Amino acid sequence: MSGVFRRTNGAPVVAVRGEGAWVTDAAGNRYLDAAGGAIAVSLGHGDRRIADAMAAQAAQLAYAHAAAFTTEPVEAYAAELSHVLPVDDPYVFPVSGGAEAVETAFKLARAYHVANGDGDRHVIVARHGSYHGNTRGALDASGRPGLRGPYEPWLGRTVHIPSPYEYRCPHPGHPTGCGEWHAARLAEILETLQPNTVAAFIAEPIAGATLGGAVPPDDYWPAIIAVCRDHGVLVIADEVMTGFGRTGRWFAVDHWNVRPDILVAAKGASSGYWPLGLCVASGLVHGTVAAQGFVHGYTWSHHPVGAAVGREVLRRLQDDQLVERAAAVGERLRRTIATELAGLPCVGDVRGRGMLIGIELVADEATKTPFPRSAQITERVVVAARQRGLLLYSSTGHLDGDGDLILIGPPFTIDDSEETMITKRLAAAIEDVCGGRP
Ligand code: PMP
Repeated sequence: MSGVFRRTNGAPVVAVRGEGAWVTDAAGNRYLDAAGGAIAVSLGHGDRRIADAMAAQAAQLAYAHAAAFTTEPVEAYAAELSHVLPVDDPYVFPVSGGAEAVETAFKLARAYHVANGDGDRHVIVARHGSYHGNTRGALDASGRPGLRGPYEPWLGRTVHIPSPYEYRCPHPGHPTGCGEWHAARLAEILETLQPNTVAAFIAEPIAGATLGGAVPPDDYWPAIIAVCRDHGVLVIADEVMTGFGRTGRWFAVDHWNVRPDILVAAKGASSGYWPLGLCVASGLVHGTVAAQGFVHGYTWSHHPVGAAVGREVLRRLQDDQLVERAAAVGERLRRTIATELAGLPCVGDVRGRGMLIGIELVADEATKTPFPRSAQITERVVVAARQRGLLLYSSTGHLDGDGDLILIGPPFTIDDSEETMITKRLAAAIEDVCGGRP
């Protein structure tokens, strides 16, 4: 009898070792980690440099309460990060994960408006088809009904607008002017709500878990930023999944050269070696809030070991040019996957950017009709892949409860043979469930 409140169903598989893109279980089975865990492990498993940096910091100073001290690794990490962050004059508030970073961002946005004497501003606007975390504030922002369901009585304060989703774009004039159309929806909402009550707009610059790597059209982000600035609304970029090189740029907003007021990151910040999240404020937001004092904090925030890990991950990404590698290998991998899956039953769309690749599975490719959820297509593909030694990330229910998405997000360090293995094993797993080409 296990005393662990597990997240897995069925007979548990015990993971014992990670090396590069591979995870080994207690029975000696090896799995190619095409999901990078939860699209988190960007450097690969078992990286000695990161493990050594972690051990050295833990031996020197494992903990110092951030309300009493700052530490050398936290200061050095923030200084080194400032060269890659797409935020003006950035100030970094390190926390323990994505949801904590999102909660910190919401409080920061609210604190900014209060400090400016704009205390009516409290509403968060987010998007349908999004994910921002499972704590109550972050879940309320998440446009993902399946996760909200049991907790709805606690939720309902966030206002949601449509997400850009080019495969099923709601804009009547698609594909022309889709970004402008979405920005107009945001402007409409901001004007419908009581004036000057909105604090911030939060969105994933490229959709992650809920819409499976949906990339917005190029006119989306510049138009959205302009609407927010016109209405005095802060922009929070949720880069928890897309940050630290995942989409082939340091941050996904870099694809459009836009600069949010607040940015949140996690996952790739530590490549899975430490539970690390970051909330980054622009100098303006920081200066405004810090002058009054920010009523917020966690026991594990500003953790010196987390900062030492984050700094070493950052250096490794820079030293080995892994962001550039994610761009090049990711583009090739997505093209190869699209070619390999072309014509297979169930495959509706292959999309994404860099090392974030989404595959939408549908019952009818011509009409894009989804499978009923009861068919459990995604779950079956994930099991079939695992039996073939391939780990996938998945998401279901984005279309009013139906909808099947597979995400591929391997470490940036995969070699040519691993790239080929991902493609072949993925195609075989889909064929196991949906059958071969007609
Ligand atoms: N935001 C985004 C975009 C995410 O993808 C996730 C996690 N999948 C989160 C927030 C929440 O992060 P965490 O699980 O570390 O709380």
